[in-house]
Amino acid sequence: MAVKVVEDWLNACSGCEISILNIGDALLGILPQLEFVHMTALIDHKFFGQLGDGTAMDIPEAVVGIVSGGVRNEEMKHELEEIRKKVKFLISLGSCACYGGVPAQANMFKNEETFEKVFRQSVTTEPAPDPKDPNVPPWTSTCMAVDEVVKVDIAIPGCPPHPDWIAEAITALLEGKTAWSLPERSVCDTCPVIREQKSGGGPVKRWLQNMEFNPEEGLEKMRCINEQGFLCMGPVTLAGCAGKTGVPRCIQARTPCRGCFGPIRKGARPMVEMMGALTSVGLDPKSLVDRRAMMNRYIGGHGVLTVLPARPAR
Ligand code: SF4
Ligand code: SF4
Ligand code: SF4
Repeated sequence: MAVKVVEDWLNACSGCEISILNIGDALLGILPQLEFVHMTALIDHKFFGQLGDGTAMDIPEAVVGIVSGGVRNEEMKHELEEIRKKVKFLISLGSCACYGGVPAQANMFKNEETFEKVFRQSVTTEPAPDPKDPNVPPWTSTCMAVDEVVKVDIAIPGCPPHPDWIAEAITALLEGKTAWSLPERSVCDTCPVIREQKSGGGPVKRWLQNMEFNPEEGLEKMRCINEQGFLCMGPVTLAGCAGKTGVPRCIQARTPCRGCFGPIRKGARPMVEMMGALTSVGLDPKSLVDRRAMMNRYIGGHGVLTVLPARPAR
């Protein structure tokens, strides 16, 4: 009998769902064993009845729940709590679900400040509905990772997560395993560039200048991005973005790792460790513009990014 699956997005962009589809041939192998009973992106199954006439959220019972996106408002929180009640195993899919993701950068501001700047004073877009409108679900006090609200059994990080790992985690569950995680190694551990453990020193360079590489040559001839003086989050970021084999995706494109797979291990402090990594090659981490946001770009949930008290005027 096929294993029933509920898949849902919360504060998400749909990239994680595209990654599920990108599993490709391997998906064809596991699909006969799965029965998706709810998937917002692909199945027309509505929570409040097909005509919207239901009064309670109707989430089908399932063995596996897969949730992408973090929790940004009370409606998403309720949806997630209801899903958790209906499934045996819950997978948080993608860095928004695992760590809050890029939307959790808003945790550096009071909600009211964000409403004012983004929704009411935006000069580049049509005015959005005011978040205080009674028809708009109220925001939660912070943008949360899924495991800040309910118990999560398996976390698959990445923005987006690599299809190899989605297939592997689902296959593990189908084989009766209840735990799965990526090996604890860094993006640097899988990066082929030249490293000399030193840079030219001085401030971290801004991307107003280009780094050096010869497009005709392989990456093994390119100098490490940190050692060229730019910020690359590889030393403190979990490896796996290229799937089971291969060079980290951003490095393949000769751009720095931005940290999208999150910390290498639970409880790690990437900002502190990254400042150490920059210092170890002779760069001044304090020179990095907006370093709190840059070094916590995908991991602002779990209280990593908070509103700092205003500094007293000097
Ligand atoms: S983790 Fe990335 S791809 Fe997935 S929902 Fe968040 S922003 Fe989109
Ligand atoms: S810092 Fe970046 S460029 Fe350097 S080895 Fe690590 S991932 Fe590669
Ligand atoms: S190199 Fe870093 S930012 Fe780029 S995809 Fe891989 S983990 Fe994500």
